[in-house]
Amino acid sequence: MRLEAKLEFNMKTALIIAGGEISSGLGIDKATVRGKKGQLIIPASSIKGKLRDECQRILLGLNPSIFVCMAPRAEEMCPQPFIDEEENSVRCCPICEIFGSPWAPCQLYFSDLIVTNEDLNESRNIKIGVSIDRHSRTAKEKSLYYLGTSPQGVEYTFANSSLVGGGLTIRGEVKDAKQAALLYVGIQSLLNIGGSKSVGLGWLDEKKIEKFSLDGKPFQPSESELKEWKDG
Ligand SMILES: [Zn+2]
Repeated sequence: MRLEAKLEFNMKTALIIAGGEISSGLGIDKATVRGKKGQLIIPASSIKGKLRDECQRILLGLNPSIFVCMAPRAEEMCPQPFIDEEENSVRCCPICEIFGSPWAPCQLYFSDLIVTNEDLNESRNIKIGVSIDRHSRTAKEKSLYYLGTSPQGVEYTFANSSLVGGGLTIRGEVKDAKQAALLYVGIQSLLNIGGSKSVGLGWLDEKKIEKFSLDGKPFQPSESELKEWKDG
């Protein structure tokens, strides 16, 4: 089924800069990066990773006995956990079915978020660094990180300015209304807790789901779809 979602929000205060680290091989990272023209970008993969975590949390809350693989460790992700049981397995857990795994492409496409505030883009408050391994003195693998010069400095610069205009688009395919329902509640939850450091999307303001459609028709999850998850 064709899914299209558009989220509208503005962001106040810091983005996900301090201590952000490009981590897994999955492309799920916690970092804000710079585009070709030096503009700040929150990569689609970062947003997708956060939504994945949120949907997983909700799913396990609905039904703790549902099996979900161990993202983001590629070697423990679907279909690997099923290969012990079935050779050449192509099975995926419910979360990989929606978000994909290193071996199963995702059918959903997320847009990058680009900071539109020019002053901010020219700000020198953000440094890009590479962690150096103390023993070998070489750059550690996947250790590129982004750091604010100081948390206070970053907050001061960003205070009361709307950083990200417009919003985020998600487009692609889901299997059924049950998957769409989980995505919907995941998005809702992500927007509501956007201020938390662990989610790291900065402080969200004026957030709303502008559009959420399935096969071209407006969609809102119903109790019955969430009950299907509960019942496994
Ligand atoms: Zn999985």
